[in-house]
Order: sequence, then structure tokens, then C-alpha cells
Amino acid sequence: MEELIQKVADPKLRSQMERVASFHGYLSTGAFIGMQMLNIAHRVLGLTDGERIVVTCETHNCLPDPFQILAGSTIGNKGLKIKDYGKMAVTVSRRGPAGSQVKSVRIMLDPAKTAQYPRLHAWFMNTAKVPHLEAVSTLLDAGENVYSWEILDQEVPAKPKKIIALCEKCGESFIQRDGKRICLACQSSSQAASEGDQTISISHSEEAKCL
Ligand SMILES: [Zn+2]
Repeated sequence: MEELIQKVADPKLRSQMERVASFHGYLSTGAFIGMQMLNIAHRVLGLTDGERIVVTCETHNCLPDPFQILAGSTIGNKGLKIKDYGKMAVTVSRRGPAGSQVKSVRIMLDPAKTAQYPRLHAWFMNTAKVPHLEAVSTLLDAGENVYSWEILDQEVPAKPKKIIALCEKCGESFIQRDGKRICLACQSSSQAASEGDQTISISHSEEAKCL
């Protein structure tokens, strides 16, 4: 992969690939797709370098990482949201004051278009084991040809007032929602107990495969 990265002629693209590889651990196909999506969003929305954006990723797998390292959109600064629909798609929005209308773009890796690249399509549909090097190399050649996007007008949601309360059950402070006097952790543990489920089971069934 290092060899492929060094062969990329565009210095900006090469530097993005290096930064994503180092942040993510290696340059996975999904991380590279997120990078290409970020570049499409930049062009389509006419963003300036370093402009803050809000990103909603429709999968946990790989796709969110380029937005964190290259665009500074993180979960902690509310620049990154994950709606885990299991889709290779993102929505990128400009930032704006609450209540204002902002332009956003939803970009997806389009199966009708990847079909023209059989090995990439096989990776996408998970019908064959395709090495990241091969898939990334195909994506580099294909560029924007395998994506579809739609520009949307979105209203920036109002920021809810933050009220801190002390939980009547555990005594810990928490951000109160809907006037509830018991924290969410205590609510869910009492709910589990009332359902006769004394042990909290955590599912590890989610596939660990890295896209
Ligand atoms: Zn509590």
C-alpha cells in the first residue's frame, strides 16, 4: 500500500492518504471511500480549506475516520454523528446558526456504478475477498465515477438547554432529558431488572470485518 500511496501524483491526495493510513492504522478501502466522499463534499458545497462541517456517517465501519483526521469532525465536537444503517453513505453539511438553512450533500457509493468495476463491486457486495490494495487502486482510477450524490437544504437544529440534575437513585449528576429525575443508566438497569433480566449481556455478534 505504501508503494501505491507514493505513486499518487497529486500531493494533496497523497498527503490525505498518508494521514488517514496513520490515523486508521492502515489505508482500508472504507477509509479511502470516506476520503473520496469528503473531497466530493468539498467541491460540491464549495467549502474552504479548514471550514468546519457536520458529518453523518451511515456506518461505523472505517468511513468515519477520514472525517475525523482530515476535517476535524469528531464525536466530541458534535461534528460527527453515526447512524449505523450499514450503508456506505455520508451526509456532509455546512455549519450555521440554529434555525438557519444550510446546504448539505448526501453521497453514497452507488452499486449501479461500481458494477462497471467487477472486482470493486465484488468487494462492495462482499461476494469475494478483494485485498484493500486492489480495491483502493481501482477507486483511485475510478475517482468520482462510482459515487452518486444529492444536494439538500437542511435546517440547523436548535441547541437544547442543558439542565444538570442529581439522580434520585444513584446520586450522580447527569444531563436531564424530558424532566426525568432518574438517570438513564438507572432507568435502563431498573427496566432490565423488571424484565427479569438480571445480567446485562453485551452482544459481540457484530461482524468485526473492516470495510
Ligand atoms: Zn442514577
